[in-house]
Amino acid sequence: MSSGTRMRVASRGLCNGIRADKVHYHRSMPLQFDNRFLRALPGDPSDSRHSRQVHGAMWSHVAPTPVRSPRLIAHASDVAALLGLDAAEVQDESFVGALAGNALLPGMTAYATVYGGHQFGNWAGQLGDGRAILLGETVNDRGERFELQLKGAGPTPYSRRADGRAVLRSSIREFLCSEAMHHLGIPSTRALSLVLTGEQVERDMFYDGNADMEPGAIVCRVAPSFLRFGHFEIFASRGESELLRRLIDFTISSYFPQYTDLVDDERILAWFGEVCERTATLIAEWMRVGFVHGVMNTDNMSILGLTIDYGPYGWIDNFDPGWTPNTTDAQGRRYCFGRQPGVAQWNLARLADALATLDLPVDALERELNRYQRRYTLEITRVYANKFGLDQWRDQEGDIVDAAFQWMAASGVDMTTFFRALAQADSADDLAHTFYGEVRWHDAREAVTHWFIRYQRAVNAPGAPSKHARVARMSAANPVYVLRNYLAQEAIDLAHEGDYSRIAQLLDVLRQPYCVQPGREHFSGKRPDWALNKPGCSMLSCSS
Ligand code: AMP
Ligand code: MG
Repeated sequence: MSSGTRMRVASRGLCNGIRADKVHYHRSMPLQFDNRFLRALPGDPSDSRHSRQVHGAMWSHVAPTPVRSPRLIAHASDVAALLGLDAAEVQDESFVGALAGNALLPGMTAYATVYGGHQFGNWAGQLGDGRAILLGETVNDRGERFELQLKGAGPTPYSRRADGRAVLRSSIREFLCSEAMHHLGIPSTRALSLVLTGEQVERDMFYDGNADMEPGAIVCRVAPSFLRFGHFEIFASRGESELLRRLIDFTISSYFPQYTDLVDDERILAWFGEVCERTATLIAEWMRVGFVHGVMNTDNMSILGLTIDYGPYGWIDNFDPGWTPNTTDAQGRRYCFGRQPGVAQWNLARLADALATLDLPVDALERELNRYQRRYTLEITRVYANKFGLDQWRDQEGDIVDAAFQWMAASGVDMTTFFRALAQADSADDLAHTFYGEVRWHDAREAVTHWFIRYQRAVNAPGAPSKHARVARMSAANPVYVLRNYLAQEAIDLAHEGDYSRIAQLLDVLRQPYCVQPGREHFSGKRPDWALNKPGCSMLSCSS
């Protein structure tokens, strides 16, 4: 799509049931689609948008609801390149129309999928893509496949009583964090674009009866698959074993082809074991960078082991394993930082329950489930070894890493700046600036000084790597830049004033999170005091 030869965008009137053949194009579409999910798995015969329980099917045709005046305010050029698109193609008016849900391009088919989930420990029944509409599966020149999904493109049969929309603040957060995670080297769904809809959305941000109108936005997410544990659970819960088997077969043949030659139970067990291991790796990586997902319900757990569904997530500033960014979780703290490894295991056990309905031997499922704990231990050991630059961390007093986490939790030192400073520190005093204030440093100083002597002794033990090698290793494991909650909030506040430049700037900084970027100190400091109790910086709700 070059400028001047624009595709015509389907008009607002084509709202229900817009199809690619209603749109005329002057040149070939740069994206190729091959929608395996739709081809392989049964769909819902109805294409009505009304909210309902959908049985006997895995997806429903549902056209996005067009929006008034779409405007692309950010896009990730490397995600575009992954799909085979250049910047001009993404910015083309008609392509932006597709990213806003106003048109379907050739090859696109719009649909929403059925899933269920355990929310906060309880089975919640059918959930499904309530505000996510898939546009199909693209295949790039290298044969790599990615699904495109619009978040906030209008109601679907799975919207229950909600509006199917998303607000700008949560869309900025999803857009930036997906990319931040990817560039940290952590598996994640990606984000191609952020589009303002030109329409207002009503939200009661803190569920306190104070609803406000907020700008609406749509993110186009990109991932090989958006399948969640809940996709498997829903069919098990309904006794729809045939559908469950078909979904598993599809998942293995499409995303885990290495297991297709195994037969019967062995195939499913090997695949489930791998899901356990991928999940373990993912959670260890979250723990490495101080990411708190905030809503680890089973419907928010990716079957591919990706970080998925960026809602009231947060990043650890002051080190506190009990911290949760999610106001809905403030009481129980089920999804707080330190509990993420255990919750992931609980979620995998729910997936195992779903698989058990296929008469798989329970002891074999348990054996595979145990791979989670084993892999997590391996991964977190690797993570700590890299973060501290230490392979042997027992001395005559005990466990040096454990001791660090104890004083870190007690003092609330800033996690991200601490680990970067630790690599370079020659004395405990070199760590003082990573504490939240003089008083906290003063209170912790004795314990930190004692600990630092132990640490120094360990890193200088005979046979230990050189300081140069240690610093390089630690610098590759400890980011300088993470999407601290207040940094995202600053971008949101500016965007609400019509200034979108900070989104692009942050995206750029977060592309190289491990490299010190001169002139960008604003993005690498501790959380400023003003952000301590500001909504969006310290507490977030699920309202999005
Ligand atoms: P979440 O808490 O965002 O993971 O969403 C849980 C369920 O609620 C999923 O089925 C979502 O698709 C659905 N949902 C959340 N927000 C909306 C909304 N604004 N409109 C429709 N469905 C929604
Ligand atoms: Mg969700």
